[in-house]
Amino acid sequence: MNIRKKYGVILFLILFLILLFTSCANISTTGFHAGQTTDLKVHYIDVGQGDSIFIQKDGETMLIDAGDNESGKVVVDYLKKNHVSKIDYLIGTHPHSDHIGGLDTVIENFDIGKVMMPKVTHTSKTFEDVLLALKKKDLKLILPKAGDTYGLGDAKWKILAPNGEEYDNFNNYSIVIQLLYKNNSFLFTGDAESQSEKEILQANKKNSLISDVLKIGHHGSSTSTTDEFLQAIQPKVAVISLGKENSYGHPHKEILEKLKKNQVTIFRTDLNGTIIATSDGEQITFEIEKKQEVNKENGETLYIGNKNTKVLHTKNCNQLPAKQNQIYFKNKEQAFKQGYRLHEACQP
Ligand SMILES: [Zn+2]
Ligand SMILES: [Zn+2]
Repeated sequence: MNIRKKYGVILFLILFLILLFTSCANISTTGFHAGQTTDLKVHYIDVGQGDSIFIQKDGETMLIDAGDNESGKVVVDYLKKNHVSKIDYLIGTHPHSDHIGGLDTVIENFDIGKVMMPKVTHTSKTFEDVLLALKKKDLKLILPKAGDTYGLGDAKWKILAPNGEEYDNFNNYSIVIQLLYKNNSFLFTGDAESQSEKEILQANKKNSLISDVLKIGHHGSSTSTTDEFLQAIQPKVAVISLGKENSYGHPHKEILEKLKKNQVTIFRTDLNGTIIATSDGEQITFEIEKKQEVNKENGETLYIGNKNTKVLHTKNCNQLPAKQNQIYFKNKEQAFKQGYRLHEACQP
């Protein structure tokens, strides 16, 4: 072996070792596994009356709230089903139990990166449980600062609120986050009410607030989603996180009317179950868990079509197409226009 060849072999060996070690390092730090896409995924988990939103990008994860105490297990099971082992960013928007109730269970069950909660304490057992769970794992809190930005894979998220130091209403301490990926934007509002919305409008250039998807503040209560705020956000889609027949009368009628008037598509966890939005940076697609039931408010019945066979079924038909082939129609005419024909067995 001449000297040149020998050096070549050694050089190749070194290069190989470098590649080997760097690829190992990647696997262990990001938890990246085969088949994972680079799309941004936002899961609005159905936790009944409360909020819990799980976000994934390039193998990095973020959880905003975890519903009430009983929902902790629901959230943990959902994340485990999705092969999650680590939460890089855990956010407790504000210390109300329908948001931070399940956080202690989440903290106990996963590796946790950074934890963010607003600078306010609450004298409830729920709040103490969260602090205890953090202490047990030696996790420190980071405080939200309006204007700060963080990364999630190659997506970015920005803190929009709280902007003030002290509020009478706990809801206004809510951490409000705008998530940006290429041309798509999502807004997560916790229970922020009109006062916080006003401060967000004052602190930001109006155009910078425009978002495709708005998680409606405070479960659709009329104390949030002011006209001015909605006009600045200009959402195409609204997601309302709430429980069926809740005692607060959420969502309030005024809010639904306002959204309809502005031609915003509405998804609700009480009707749709868990809602998953997938963004490739240009387009956002939505998947819903449950078939929407009859909507009493405007008397809509739902029909389910098979995208492949173009057959239309009632929602109760026992021969419904596989979930990935289903398409929903509000009325038969809409389906006929797209070339669908009726299924004889269920007589839609
Ligand atoms: Zn709430
Ligand atoms: Zn609240």
